[in-house]
Amino acid sequence: MRFGLVQEDDFLRHDTGAHVENPGRLKAIAAELASSPLPLEKVASRLASDEELTALHAPSLVERLEAVSARGGGWLDGDTFCSPASAEVARRAAGSAIELTRLVTSGDLERGFALLRPPGHHATPDRSMGFCLYSNIALAAHHAGVERVLIFDWDVHHGNGTQDCLYRHPATVFMSLHQSPFYPGTGHPEERGEGPGAGSIYNLPLPAGCADAEYLWAMEQLLDPLLERTDPDLILLSAGYDAHQRDPLGGMAVSTEGFRQMAARLDRWSRRGRTRGRLVGLLEGGYDPRALAASVRATLEAWLEPVAFEPIKASQVSSPVRHLVERLRQSFLGP
Ligand SMILES: [Zn+2]
Repeated sequence: MRFGLVQEDDFLRHDTGAHVENPGRLKAIAAELASSPLPLEKVASRLASDEELTALHAPSLVERLEAVSARGGGWLDGDTFCSPASAEVARRAAGSAIELTRLVTSGDLERGFALLRPPGHHATPDRSMGFCLYSNIALAAHHAGVERVLIFDWDVHHGNGTQDCLYRHPATVFMSLHQSPFYPGTGHPEERGEGPGAGSIYNLPLPAGCADAEYLWAMEQLLDPLLERTDPDLILLSAGYDAHQRDPLGGMAVSTEGFRQMAARLDRWSRRGRTRGRLVGLLEGGYDPRALAASVRATLEAWLEPVAFEPIKASQVSSPVRHLVERLRQSFLGP
Protein backbone atom coordinates (compact mmCIF):
# COMPACT_ATOMS: atom_id res chain seq x y z
CA MET A 1 0.00 0.00 0.00
CA ARG A 2 1.20 3.54 -0.77
CA PHE A 3 0.61 5.37 2.50
CA GLY A 4 1.80 8.98 2.66
CA LEU A 5 3.00 10.75 5.80
CA VAL A 6 3.51 14.48 6.26
CA GLN A 7 6.12 14.93 8.98
CA GLU A 8 8.43 17.95 8.96
CA ASP A 9 10.44 19.94 11.45
CA ASP A 10 8.96 23.13 10.06
CA PHE A 11 5.82 22.50 12.16
CA LEU A 12 8.01 22.90 15.28
CA ARG A 13 8.48 26.59 14.37
CA HIS A 14 4.97 27.35 15.65
CA ASP A 15 6.65 28.29 18.94
CA THR A 16 4.11 28.30 21.75
CA GLY A 17 6.58 28.07 24.65
CA ALA A 18 5.18 26.30 27.71
CA HIS A 19 1.67 26.07 26.23
CA VAL A 20 0.08 22.60 26.42
CA GLU A 21 -0.03 22.57 22.59
CA ASN A 22 3.73 22.77 22.04
CA PRO A 23 6.41 21.36 19.69
CA GLY A 24 7.15 18.55 22.18
CA ARG A 25 3.99 16.79 20.95
CA LEU A 26 5.43 16.27 17.47
CA LYS A 27 8.87 15.43 18.88
CA ALA A 28 7.31 12.63 20.95
CA ILE A 29 5.59 11.21 17.85
CA ALA A 30 8.82 11.48 15.83
CA ALA A 31 10.75 9.58 18.53
CA GLU A 32 8.05 6.89 18.64
CA LEU A 33 8.05 6.44 14.86
CA ALA A 34 11.86 6.49 14.68
CA SER A 35 12.11 3.66 17.23
CA SER A 36 10.76 1.19 14.66
CA PRO A 37 9.81 2.86 11.41
CA LEU A 38 6.61 1.98 9.55
CA PRO A 39 6.48 1.67 5.74
CA LEU A 40 5.24 5.19 5.08
CA GLU A 41 6.17 7.49 2.19
CA LYS A 42 7.18 11.00 3.18
CA VAL A 43 5.05 13.64 1.46
CA ALA A 44 6.53 17.12 1.15
CA SER A 45 4.65 19.91 2.88
CA ARG A 46 3.60 23.05 1.05
CA LEU A 47 2.07 26.44 1.79
CA ALA A 48 -1.62 27.07 1.11
CA SER A 49 -2.26 29.96 -1.27
CA ASP A 50 -4.40 32.97 -0.33
CA GLU A 51 -6.98 31.69 -2.78
CA GLU A 52 -7.12 28.28 -1.09
CA LEU A 53 -7.42 29.78 2.40
CA THR A 54 -10.07 32.32 1.48
CA ALA A 55 -12.24 29.66 -0.14
CA LEU A 56 -13.48 29.11 3.44
CA HIS A 57 -11.79 31.76 5.62
CA ALA A 58 -12.41 35.51 5.64
CA PRO A 59 -9.55 37.50 4.04
CA SER A 60 -9.51 39.55 7.27
CA LEU A 61 -8.48 36.41 9.26
CA VAL A 62 -5.54 35.74 6.93
CA GLU A 63 -4.49 39.40 7.14
CA ARG A 64 -4.74 39.40 10.94
CA LEU A 65 -2.55 36.30 11.36
CA GLU A 66 0.07 37.68 8.96
CA ALA A 67 0.05 41.00 10.84
CA VAL A 68 0.37 39.44 14.32
CA SER A 69 3.27 37.25 13.20
CA ALA A 70 4.96 40.17 11.40
CA ARG A 71 4.95 42.29 14.54
CA GLY A 72 6.57 39.52 16.61
CA GLY A 73 3.60 37.40 17.68
CA GLY A 74 0.95 37.57 20.39
CA TRP A 75 -2.18 35.97 21.82
CA LEU A 76 -5.14 35.66 19.45
CA ASP A 77 -7.48 34.80 22.30
CA GLY A 78 -7.10 33.57 25.88
CA ASP A 79 -5.56 30.27 24.82
CA THR A 80 -4.38 30.61 21.21
CA PHE A 81 -0.85 31.88 20.59
CA CYS A 82 0.64 33.13 17.33
CA SER A 83 4.46 33.25 17.21
CA PRO A 84 6.56 35.14 14.63
CA ALA A 85 6.60 32.03 12.39
CA SER A 86 3.04 30.88 13.12
CA ALA A 87 1.23 32.56 10.20
CA GLU A 88 3.56 30.78 7.77
CA VAL A 89 3.51 27.47 9.65
CA ALA A 90 -0.32 27.52 9.82
CA ARG A 91 -0.39 28.21 6.08
CA ARG A 92 1.93 25.19 5.67
CA ALA A 93 -0.32 22.98 7.83
CA ALA A 94 -3.34 23.92 5.72
CA GLY A 95 -1.44 23.53 2.43
CA SER A 96 -0.09 20.13 3.46
CA ALA A 97 -3.58 18.93 4.44
CA ILE A 98 -4.84 19.98 1.00
CA GLU A 99 -1.85 18.46 -0.82
CA LEU A 100 -1.94 15.10 0.98
CA THR A 101 -5.67 14.80 0.41
CA ARG A 102 -5.29 15.60 -3.29
CA LEU A 103 -2.62 12.90 -3.61
CA VAL A 104 -5.11 10.39 -2.19
CA THR A 105 -8.09 11.49 -4.28
CA SER A 106 -5.97 11.52 -7.45
CA GLY A 107 -4.86 7.93 -6.79
CA ASP A 108 -1.16 8.71 -6.31
CA LEU A 109 -1.50 7.50 -2.71
CA GLU A 110 -4.01 5.14 -1.11
CA ARG A 111 -3.85 6.56 2.41
CA GLY A 112 -2.41 9.53 4.22
CA PHE A 113 -1.71 10.94 7.65
CA ALA A 114 -0.37 14.41 8.46
CA LEU A 115 1.42 15.32 11.68
CA LEU A 116 0.40 18.97 11.64
CA ARG A 117 0.75 21.90 13.98
CA PRO A 118 -1.07 24.11 14.62
CA PRO A 119 -4.18 21.93 14.75
CA GLY A 120 -7.27 23.17 12.92
CA HIS A 121 -10.71 21.96 13.94
CA HIS A 122 -11.63 24.94 16.16
CA ALA A 123 -10.71 27.62 13.58
CA THR A 124 -13.92 29.15 12.22
CA PRO A 125 -14.27 31.09 8.95
CA ASP A 126 -13.29 34.35 10.64
CA ARG A 127 -11.69 33.42 13.95
CA SER A 128 -8.65 31.49 15.19
CA MET A 129 -9.39 29.85 18.54
CA GLY A 130 -8.73 26.78 20.68
CA PHE A 131 -5.03 26.47 19.65
CA CYS A 132 -6.16 26.38 15.95
CA LEU A 133 -5.29 29.02 13.32
CA TYR A 134 -6.76 27.70 10.03
CA SER A 135 -9.31 24.92 9.56
CA ASN A 136 -6.98 22.36 7.99
CA ILE A 137 -9.55 19.60 7.57
CA ALA A 138 -12.37 21.76 6.22
CA LEU A 139 -9.95 23.18 3.64
CA ALA A 140 -8.77 19.65 2.74
CA ALA A 141 -12.40 18.56 2.24
CA HIS A 142 -13.31 21.64 0.21
CA HIS A 143 -10.30 21.27 -2.11
CA ALA A 144 -10.41 17.44 -2.32
CA GLY A 145 -11.72 17.43 -5.90
CA VAL A 146 -14.32 14.70 -5.32
CA GLU A 147 -18.08 14.74 -5.11
CA ARG A 148 -18.68 13.68 -1.49
CA VAL A 149 -16.42 13.79 1.59
CA LEU A 150 -17.22 12.52 5.06
CA ILE A 151 -15.25 14.03 7.95
CA PHE A 152 -15.18 12.10 11.21
CA ASP A 153 -13.86 13.89 14.30
CA TRP A 154 -12.93 11.82 17.36
CA ASP A 155 -11.04 14.61 19.16
CA VAL A 156 -12.47 15.04 22.70
CA HIS A 157 -13.54 18.60 21.81
CA HIS A 158 -16.27 19.47 19.34
CA GLY A 159 -14.88 20.52 15.94
CA ASN A 160 -16.80 23.80 15.92
CA GLY A 161 -14.51 25.32 13.30
CA THR A 162 -14.97 22.44 10.88
CA GLN A 163 -18.70 22.65 11.45
CA ASP A 164 -18.86 26.42 10.93
CA CYS A 165 -16.69 26.32 7.79
CA LEU A 166 -18.91 23.62 6.25
CA TYR A 167 -22.33 24.48 7.71
CA ARG A 168 -23.78 25.37 4.30
CA HIS A 169 -21.48 23.12 2.24
CA PRO A 170 -23.29 20.79 -0.19
CA ALA A 171 -20.52 18.19 -0.61
CA THR A 172 -19.44 17.34 2.92
CA VAL A 173 -20.86 15.34 5.80
CA PHE A 174 -19.47 15.96 9.28
CA MET A 175 -19.79 13.67 12.31
CA SER A 176 -18.24 14.53 15.66
CA LEU A 177 -18.01 12.51 18.88
CA HIS A 178 -17.07 14.82 21.73
CA GLN A 179 -17.27 15.36 25.46
CA SER A 180 -20.17 17.56 26.57
CA PRO A 181 -20.53 19.86 28.41
CA PHE A 182 -16.99 20.93 27.51
CA TYR A 183 -14.98 23.44 25.46
CA PRO A 184 -16.00 25.04 23.10
CA GLY A 185 -19.65 24.61 24.17
CA THR A 186 -21.03 23.74 20.73
CA GLY A 187 -21.82 20.39 19.10
CA HIS A 188 -25.47 19.84 20.02
CA PRO A 189 -27.45 17.25 18.04
CA GLU A 190 -29.78 20.04 16.90
CA GLU A 191 -26.94 21.71 14.92
CA ARG A 192 -27.57 20.04 11.55
CA GLY A 193 -26.33 22.44 8.84
CA GLU A 194 -28.21 24.96 6.72
CA GLY A 195 -29.27 25.62 3.12
CA PRO A 196 -27.32 23.33 0.77
CA GLY A 197 -25.68 21.77 3.86
CA ALA A 198 -28.93 21.07 5.73
CA GLY A 199 -28.91 17.66 7.38
CA SER A 200 -25.20 17.06 6.80
CA ILE A 201 -23.94 17.63 10.39
CA TYR A 202 -24.15 14.84 12.98
CA ASN A 203 -23.11 15.73 16.53
CA LEU A 204 -22.89 13.15 19.28
CA PRO A 205 -22.17 14.84 22.63
CA LEU A 206 -20.95 12.23 25.13
CA PRO A 207 -20.80 12.50 28.92
CA ALA A 208 -17.36 12.56 30.57
CA GLY A 209 -15.87 9.19 31.48
CA CYS A 210 -16.58 7.33 28.24
CA ALA A 211 -14.09 4.56 27.48
CA ASP A 212 -13.31 2.26 24.55
CA ALA A 213 -16.67 0.45 24.57
CA GLU A 214 -18.72 3.67 24.42
CA TYR A 215 -16.66 5.12 21.56
CA LEU A 216 -16.68 1.88 19.57
CA TRP A 217 -20.40 1.42 20.16
CA ALA A 218 -21.15 4.97 18.99
CA MET A 219 -19.06 4.40 15.87
CA GLU A 220 -20.78 1.09 15.09
CA GLN A 221 -24.31 2.37 15.75
CA LEU A 222 -24.00 5.79 14.10
CA LEU A 223 -20.93 6.17 11.91
CA ASP A 224 -21.13 2.78 10.19
CA PRO A 225 -24.72 3.27 8.92
CA LEU A 226 -23.97 6.90 8.06
CA LEU A 227 -21.02 5.81 5.93
CA GLU A 228 -23.22 3.17 4.24
CA ARG A 229 -25.82 5.82 3.46
CA THR A 230 -23.36 8.51 2.37
CA ASP A 231 -20.99 6.26 0.40
CA PRO A 232 -18.37 9.04 0.34
CA ASP A 233 -15.49 9.26 -2.14
CA LEU A 234 -13.15 10.04 0.75
CA ILE A 235 -13.07 9.80 4.55
CA LEU A 236 -11.14 12.45 6.45
CA LEU A 237 -10.37 11.95 10.14
CA SER A 238 -9.82 14.77 12.61
CA ALA A 239 -7.36 12.67 14.59
CA GLY A 240 -7.22 14.16 18.07
CA TYR A 241 -6.04 11.97 20.92
CA ASP A 242 -7.22 14.01 23.90
CA ALA A 243 -9.97 11.48 24.68
CA HIS A 244 -7.10 9.26 25.90
CA GLN A 245 -7.29 8.18 29.55
CA ARG A 246 -3.94 9.87 30.28
CA ASP A 247 -4.75 13.19 28.61
CA PRO A 248 -4.50 16.17 30.97
CA LEU A 249 -7.27 18.19 29.24
CA GLY A 250 -9.91 15.63 28.28
CA GLY A 251 -12.19 13.81 30.71
CA MET A 252 -12.55 10.56 28.78
CA ALA A 253 -10.97 7.13 29.31
CA VAL A 254 -10.06 5.79 25.86
CA SER A 255 -6.98 3.53 25.82
CA THR A 256 -4.26 3.29 23.19
CA GLU A 257 -5.78 -0.07 22.20
CA GLY A 258 -9.15 1.68 21.94
CA PHE A 259 -7.70 4.09 19.37
CA ARG A 260 -6.29 1.09 17.46
CA GLN A 261 -9.77 -0.48 17.41
CA MET A 262 -11.41 2.78 16.34
CA ALA A 263 -8.85 3.16 13.53
CA ALA A 264 -9.41 -0.47 12.50
CA ARG A 265 -13.13 0.16 12.04
CA LEU A 266 -12.43 3.18 9.84
CA ASP A 267 -9.99 1.04 7.87
CA ARG A 268 -12.58 -1.69 7.24
CA TRP A 269 -15.45 0.69 6.49
CA SER A 270 -13.33 2.77 4.12
CA ARG A 271 -12.82 -0.25 1.87
CA ARG A 272 -16.49 -0.36 0.86
CA GLY A 273 -18.33 1.23 -2.06
CA ARG A 274 -17.04 4.43 -3.63
CA THR A 275 -14.57 5.12 -0.81
CA ARG A 276 -12.20 2.38 -2.04
CA GLY A 277 -9.90 2.76 0.95
CA ARG A 278 -9.36 6.51 0.59
CA LEU A 279 -8.68 7.62 4.14
CA VAL A 280 -6.70 10.62 5.38
CA GLY A 281 -6.00 11.54 9.02
CA LEU A 282 -4.97 15.01 10.18
CA LEU A 283 -3.58 15.46 13.67
CA GLU A 284 -5.68 17.64 16.00
CA GLY A 285 -5.34 17.50 19.83
CA GLY A 286 -3.68 15.11 22.29
CA TYR A 287 -1.67 16.58 25.16
CA ASP A 288 0.01 13.68 26.94
CA PRO A 289 3.04 13.25 24.68
CA ARG A 290 3.55 9.52 25.38
CA ALA A 291 -0.12 8.63 25.04
CA LEU A 292 -0.31 10.77 21.90
CA ALA A 293 2.72 9.12 20.28
CA ALA A 294 1.58 5.57 21.09
CA SER A 295 -1.95 6.27 19.85
CA VAL A 296 -0.74 7.82 16.58
CA ARG A 297 1.38 4.71 16.01
CA ALA A 298 -1.61 2.46 16.79
CA THR A 299 -3.70 4.37 14.22
CA LEU A 300 -1.03 4.11 11.52
CA GLU A 301 -0.51 0.40 12.21
CA ALA A 302 -4.25 -0.29 12.01
CA TRP A 303 -4.38 1.49 8.64
CA LEU A 304 -1.37 -0.42 7.30
CA GLU A 305 -2.33 -3.95 8.37
CA PRO A 306 -5.98 -4.88 8.98
CA VAL A 307 -6.68 -5.57 12.69
CA ALA A 308 -9.21 -8.24 13.64
CA PHE A 309 -12.11 -6.99 15.72
CA GLU A 310 -15.34 -8.22 17.22
CA PRO A 311 -18.45 -6.01 17.32
CA ILE A 312 -19.06 -4.44 20.74
CA LYS A 313 -21.93 -5.93 22.76
CA ALA A 314 -24.57 -3.61 24.18
CA SER A 315 -23.88 -5.02 27.65
CA GLN A 316 -20.34 -3.56 27.53
CA VAL A 317 -21.68 -0.01 27.10
CA SER A 318 -22.88 2.23 29.94
CA SER A 319 -26.65 2.52 29.83
CA PRO A 320 -26.86 6.35 29.56
CA VAL A 321 -24.63 6.22 26.45
CA ARG A 322 -26.60 3.30 25.02
CA HIS A 323 -29.84 5.27 25.38
CA LEU A 324 -28.31 8.46 23.99
CA VAL A 325 -26.89 6.66 20.96
CA GLU A 326 -30.21 4.90 20.31
CA ARG A 327 -32.14 8.19 20.50
CA LEU A 328 -29.73 9.91 18.11
CA ARG A 329 -29.66 6.94 15.75
CA GLN A 330 -33.43 7.20 15.40
CA SER A 331 -33.36 10.93 14.96
CA PHE A 332 -30.44 10.98 12.49
CA LEU A 333 -31.02 7.78 10.54
CA GLY A 334 -34.67 6.81 11.12
CA PRO A 335 -36.09 3.61 12.56
ZN1 LIG B 1 -9.15 18.57 21.41
